[in-house]
Amino acid sequence: MKVQFVDLVAQYQSIRHEIHAELEKVMSTASFVLGPAVREFEDAFAAYCGSRHCVGVASGADALTLAMRALDVGPGDEVITAANTFIATVNGIAHAGATPVLVDIDPATYNLDPTLLERAITPRTRAVIPVHLYGQPADMDPILDIARSRNLLVVEDAAQAHGATYKSRKVGTFGAMACFSFYPGKNLGSYGEGGAVTTNDDLLAEKLRVLRNVGQSEKYIHPVIGYNSRLQTMQAAVLNVKLRHLDDWNARRRHFADRYTELLQDSGCALPTVMSGVEPVWHLYVIQHDRRDDLLRFLAEKQIYCGIHYPVPIHEQQAYKGVRTVPDGAPITSRAASRLLSLPMHPDLTEEQVKAVAKAILEFERDTSR
Ligand SMILES: *Cc1c(COP(=O)(O)O)cnc(C)c1O
Repeated sequence: MKVQFVDLVAQYQSIRHEIHAELEKVMSTASFVLGPAVREFEDAFAAYCGSRHCVGVASGADALTLAMRALDVGPGDEVITAANTFIATVNGIAHAGATPVLVDIDPATYNLDPTLLERAITPRTRAVIPVHLYGQPADMDPILDIARSRNLLVVEDAAQAHGATYKSRKVGTFGAMACFSFYPGKNLGSYGEGGAVTTNDDLLAEKLRVLRNVGQSEKYIHPVIGYNSRLQTMQAAVLNVKLRHLDDWNARRRHFADRYTELLQDSGCALPTVMSGVEPVWHLYVIQHDRRDDLLRFLAEKQIYCGIHYPVPIHEQQAYKGVRTVPDGAPITSRAASRLLSLPMHPDLTEEQVKAVAKAILEFERDTSR
C-alpha cells in the first residue's frame, strides 16, 4: 500500500468547490495585491489565535526577518534559538543583521531546553525565538520567566504549530510576536508561499504593515527601508477556505498520531513524548530508530514515504560555520540527526495506511533481528 508523506492532492479534492469560488472572486475583481481577502484572513487568523493583530507576509521566512526588523533587532545584537529547527528560523536572525546563538534541545520533546537558556545569554542578547517544533509547543513558562528577568524579547516560531495549545492557550500569543508559515505542507498551507506575524501590540502591527509594503506609511511616503513581502490575495483566499477546516484537520492528525503510538508501543522506535499541559497539532510524527537509514530505505521500497527533520543540523551547515552553540556542539541535536525519522502524517491518511506503516516497521525489526 502506497503511503505518501503528505497528500495535498487528496486535500484539494475535498475542498475544490470552496477554493474555486474564493479564487474566482479574486480573479473577477483583479484584487491581486492587498485585496479584501487579505484583511479578511488576517482578522480571521488573529481571532483564531486569540491575538489582537495578524499581518500577512510573503513567507514564514520573511515573517521572521520582519519580526526582527520591527523589534529593531539588528547588528550587534544576539538572538537565541533552538539548535534543531528549520534553517529559516536562523536565517531570519541573520538577515536582520543580528547574530544567532543555538541552544540544544530537550531530548524528550526536541524543543529548546529552557535549563540551558541562561548559559546562552550575554550582555548583547536581545531576543529568544522558541520554535514549536513538529507542532508541539515549546515549554513557554520557564522561557518567559527567564526572558522577563533578563529583559529579553520573545518571538515564537509557530510555523509548524497552527492551533497548538500550551496550558490551554494557543501558540501565537505568548511573545511580543509570533511567526507563522503557510508553505503548502504546513498544517495551514497556501497554494504557493505565505506567512504571517501575530502580535497584541498595536504599534508593532503597524510597523509590520509598513515594513512588508516597501516601507510605505502612505502612498509614496517611506519612513523606513522596507520589503516587498505582502501576502498575495490569491493565497489569502485559499487560506480563508482552509482556516475553516484547520481544527478538523488537526483533530485527524491527533487521531492518527494516537494510532501510531498505540501500534508502535512494543517496537524498537523511540516514540514522541508529549509534555503535560500541551496539545500538539502533529505537524510531524517523529520517531527515533537505531537503524534509521536502513528503515527509511526499507519503507521506501514498500512505497511508504518518510522524511527527516532535520538530517544536517544548522551548526554543521557551511552557511553557519562558527555559529555559537550551547553547550558546545549541541550534542543532543547532533546525535538525533542520524536517528530521527518522520512518519507519513497528514489529515487525509486512512486507518489502513497507518496500520500498514506500523506493520512495515515491525516487519523490518523482525527481519533484521534474526
Ligand atoms: C516552514 C518553516 C519556516 C519557514 O517558512 P517558509 O514559509 O517556508 O518560509 C520557519 N520555521 C520553521 C520551524 C518552519 O518549519
